[in-house]
Amino acid sequence: MTRPLVILVVALAIPTLALAQADSAKAPDLVPQLVARLDLERYKATIKGLTRFGDRRQGTDRNRAAVDWIEAQLRSYGCSDVSRLKYDFQPPPPRTGNPPPRDTSRASGGGRYRGLRARTGVNTDSLKQPDARVRALDAQASTPGAREEVYCTKIGTTHADEMYIVGGHMDGIGWGEAANDDGSGTALVMELARVFSSADVHTDRSIRFALWNNEETGLNGARAYVEQRRALQGSKEEPKWLGMIQHDMMLFDHGMPRADGTLAAVQRPEADVNIEFQASSKFAAEAQALAWVFHEANEKYATDYPASVGSHMTNTDSAPFQDVVPAISLRENERGTQIGAGWDPNWHQPTDLYATYNDADFRLGLNAAQTTLAALAGLVGATVK
Ligand SMILES: [Zn+2]
Repeated sequence: MTRPLVILVVALAIPTLALAQADSAKAPDLVPQLVARLDLERYKATIKGLTRFGDRRQGTDRNRAAVDWIEAQLRSYGCSDVSRLKYDFQPPPPRTGNPPPRDTSRASGGGRYRGLRARTGVNTDSLKQPDARVRALDAQASTPGAREEVYCTKIGTTHADEMYIVGGHMDGIGWGEAANDDGSGTALVMELARVFSSADVHTDRSIRFALWNNEETGLNGARAYVEQRRALQGSKEEPKWLGMIQHDMMLFDHGMPRADGTLAAVQRPEADVNIEFQASSKFAAEAQALAWVFHEANEKYATDYPASVGSHMTNTDSAPFQDVVPAISLRENERGTQIGAGWDPNWHQPTDLYATYNDADFRLGLNAAQTTLAALAGLVGATVK
């Protein structure tokens, strides 16, 4: 799509978005100053902090302890209105009989597989975790029942009653440390909450930072939020939703698996941040326009890695929002055609450990953080004084 058409779509579909950008265009560009407040070592330290709670599987003490820790961090950043959404989770009964047949040539989300594929799956075997410390950390089984997830809000100065929702999921699976899935997305959202909560940062519109729980069981935490709060929009209790931006698995883009199923040992130099919207969603046009705003922010402000836009967003916490508001997700690879084809060998595996990744990996996540921070700064009319 050509640039003028994109701008036209933005102007038609999201007038408030165009307005926010026009307002800030008059002032000197403060975005580089905000982006500079993100830092690779801080980002890594936040991921490391999350991995102290192992895989943070939903319905366990380690998951609840991680929610408490995230809440304490958000409070320490000065983020406003730290709150918890409460819901009940009962796992569905095990499926009986044969699963319905599925077209395995077509990727989840609607894309087409190309090239080589490697197998994927969820590790459920504790003995595949060779590190006794991590195995012990992840030992407690999940029990059904009450669940909580935490969020906080940067309150806008002129349009506090309108907000973007920025999310990552804090729970994981697979008998590792869920460092990438989704410690990397959770840490990104926490780092953005830190930067935007700084006393000298002001925004016209509000931003809600949400750390979803129960993503791995079927997006249950994000679904609960939509169910409980959708109808409250526009009331004192819930600002109107302008868009939802999800972050899931931000570190690892080593390319396509080789014919023998192995992958390159290091980040590919052409690694990118994948920004996806869902072409079949009710707000597809607006979500696409939003995706291009993020792409442009990446072009201008991200230090190392470029971004790509795709139309097959799937299996992520932005999905419950996609027919209510424009929704996009950021990820290390396309979820359907790439992750689904085995591009991340640590996905839901015991190897999803902090120690698995190096700075070239962590830097991809940092670039996604720079992308979202810069895009949001324009969308909400951020200023620094
Ligand atoms: Zn995930």
